[in-house]
Amino acid sequence: ANKNINAKLVLLGDVGAGKSSLVLRFVKGQFIEFQESTIGAAFFSQTLAVNDATVKFEIWDTAGQERYHSLAPMYYRGAAAAVIVYDISNQGLPCFPTGQKASFERAKKWVQELQAQGNPNMVMALAGNKADLLDARKVAAEATQVYAQENGLFFMETSAKTATNVNDIFYEIAKRLSQV
Ligand code: GDP
Ligand code: MG
Repeated sequence: ANKNINAKLVLLGDVGAGKSSLVLRFVKGQFIEFQESTIGAAFFSQTLAVNDATVKFEIWDTAGQERYHSLAPMYYRGAAAAVIVYDISNQGLPCFPTGQKASFERAKKWVQELQAQGNPNMVMALAGNKADLLDARKVAAEATQVYAQENGLFFMETSAKTATNVNDIFYEIAKRLSQV
């Protein structure tokens, strides 16, 4: 039998990591070089067919600014899935004491928050975005993979610009949601 699943999905991550660009690529197949900053949050929907299910994503693209942090629970509460985005080329200053870059550190903070406050069955995906900027890479994929495994997330490097792994990450989420 065909299952129809409505799935609330939230995108979280640092400003400029590429959350809005990933959604725009997934929903409209487009990329904008000078994507405007999101104010508050934006809503999109997109449907994917996987196996014997149709998954309708109700997507909340959040702003990422610290000043909007207190609004985040509204978006992740009741969410079936989250995509936590960081920028593999992030130039932010190394965070003391780990030496890791700001965008990835911010992603880990979101993971912690979701683990503590989110829906315990939430499917969590970690997107290392801007994978097209290989020469500017600051975050190694290997260490991130280990981190993801330890924390029960699945990890993909994506590029909203070239479309690499963008449909794939949403497809993988849909697959996991259709299996529960
Ligand atoms: P958000 O604040 O997380 O929503 O980030 P945006 O989607 O607004 O993207 C911030 C900037 O990064 C914009 O100038 C985008 O064009 C750029 N950007 C987003 N994704 C990619 C990507 O995959 N590759 C490259 N090269 N630039 C990207
Ligand atoms: Mg945005």
